[in-house]
Amino acid sequence: MYRTHTCGELRISNQGQSTTLAGWVQTVRKFGAITFIDLRDRYGITQLLFGEELNKTLEENPMGREFVLQVTGSVQERSNKNLNIPTGEIEIKVETFRVLNKSAVPPFTIQDDTDGGDDLRMKYRFLDLRRNAVKKNLELRYAVNRAARNYLHNQGFMDIETPFLIKSTPEGARDFVVPSRMNAGQFYALPQSPQTFKQLLMVSGYDRYYQIVKCFRDEDLRADRQPEFTQIDCEMAFVEQEDILNMFEGMVKAIFKDVKGIDYTETVSRMTWEDAMWQYGNDKPDIRFGMKVLNLKKPASVYVQKQPAEELINGAGFKVFDDAETVVAIAVPGCSEYSRKQTDELTEWVKRPQIGMKGLAFIKYNSDGSCKSSMDKFYTEDKLKAIAEAAGAQPGDLVLMLAGAEERTRKAISDLRMEMAERLGLRRKDEFKLLWVLDFPLFEYDEEGNRWVARHHPFTSPKPDQIDTMISNNPSIENAAEYLKHPYANIKANAYDMVLNGNEIGGGSIRIFQRELQEKMFAALGMDEAEQLHKFGFLLGAFEYGAPPHGGIAFGFDRLCAILGGSESIRDFIAFPKNNAGRDMMLDAPATIDDKQLVELSIKLDVKS
Ligand code: ASP
Repeated sequence: MYRTHTCGELRISNQGQSTTLAGWVQTVRKFGAITFIDLRDRYGITQLLFGEELNKTLEENPMGREFVLQVTGSVQERSNKNLNIPTGEIEIKVETFRVLNKSAVPPFTIQDDTDGGDDLRMKYRFLDLRRNAVKKNLELRYAVNRAARNYLHNQGFMDIETPFLIKSTPEGARDFVVPSRMNAGQFYALPQSPQTFKQLLMVSGYDRYYQIVKCFRDEDLRADRQPEFTQIDCEMAFVEQEDILNMFEGMVKAIFKDVKGIDYTETVSRMTWEDAMWQYGNDKPDIRFGMKVLNLKKPASVYVQKQPAEELINGAGFKVFDDAETVVAIAVPGCSEYSRKQTDELTEWVKRPQIGMKGLAFIKYNSDGSCKSSMDKFYTEDKLKAIAEAAGAQPGDLVLMLAGAEERTRKAISDLRMEMAERLGLRRKDEFKLLWVLDFPLFEYDEEGNRWVARHHPFTSPKPDQIDTMISNNPSIENAAEYLKHPYANIKANAYDMVLNGNEIGGGSIRIFQRELQEKMFAALGMDEAEQLHKFGFLLGAFEYGAPPHGGIAFGFDRLCAILGGSESIRDFIAFPKNNAGRDMMLDAPATIDDKQLVELSIKLDVKS
């Protein structure tokens, strides 16, 4: 037997017991004739005491960091207790020991505050995984996995595996492809999601399906993305949007409870996509704090039909606002006393290329009720106050205003809102706020390609009362610049996203389940009949054999874990992640393959290596 206990198990109540432990050497400390070794395994750390009588054997078997060691001895009370760790009251008085394996000197310290940089830790990920901080993340990941499975199992869902070697599924990214040796010149695609399979399972009658499953998307890895990532993928038959929303807010609440001990009893807020864009400049707003956007110009290029407060800025002769497509404002609480230096710094912040604004206007709504602004020349104090109050400001607040092209300005005000919240400490890691964003546009117009594209994916159904609009209108557009006038621009989808603290953690839709409507959808996206049959003949065919109404959702599992773990990075929650260039630093993959393999696959390369 290699061990009787783990390194995290023994307590003062075990005093006097004989024990055998096995683990890795964390530290070796020599004090005169005696030696202390901290022995570590997945469960914790236990202090070992090697008395004088073992000195000779220790000398013959010099011990180093990360050696694999087995010891037998008895549990005794420590004189110098460490109450920060659960085993800190005891130590093992070693009687015999055995080095089970040696270790080379590790390239970085296996400690929470390691001296290893990112690249090095990724190259030696198997060592990095020994660190407590990383282990905790994987434990949390497993806890989320378990909580989701338990919940879904209790709700009657079945975990059904779907294949990885398939044909393209359109989730808006490029496919990873795999050449087929047995079918020369042909390729499988790796699934961007199991979308079509889960829909086929509904046709087959498995009315509650889930899978915690890998998805593969060949995207540029900006921000915090991974080419392969995990989804909690779900589908239900005989459901309406409301059923899905209830079922899956239940799941997320169960995860909160099981993993974080949080009783999320409040109803999950809901917001339409239009409201989200209008009030937050963003379709995944963080609603832990206010600072809603005040819109002062009519929307030009987004699919939003709202009334702005134009009268507040019109007629003042302020060219910056008059000439801008979009003018927006937010009220930042308690910042009216910002100094010149601080407002200058904020101006520089919005001018950075990532934000791309030309400048920043502000109104200080002072605690005494007076207003001071960078636009004093154009607006009376009453006007300034009216703008500030329309933005939701109270005395003591600072109103920040941006003007420019619509899309960019909306994104900029959203970024600025998040930045200010961050600076004010309003984005607390221990606060969780869920939100459903509903009624997304069904289509987006790709001006470059001059065609409609599906905003979610082509299997998403329009709102029931807009199906007619879709069927009875011809998708083609004569004048691309006027696409917003086309009836398709106003069709809303039966689609929903779940947002947690400003992150989209899940998204799904009620699906089209009639062949005719699905064909119409494909046609709207520019697919002729031949292409439809080539790409999705199997699904259209299945819809002829009694497809039930159905809908579903998929959650970004890695992201959900990262947020629950209080981290910005999903990589920290993946055992073997890839770097920003999509490389596995440990395996050194992707890599070239042998000429022989290329020949077998009938592939000739056209790259210089
Ligand atoms: N397949 C979709 C996605 O990956 C989710 C869904 O519609 O269920 O985003």
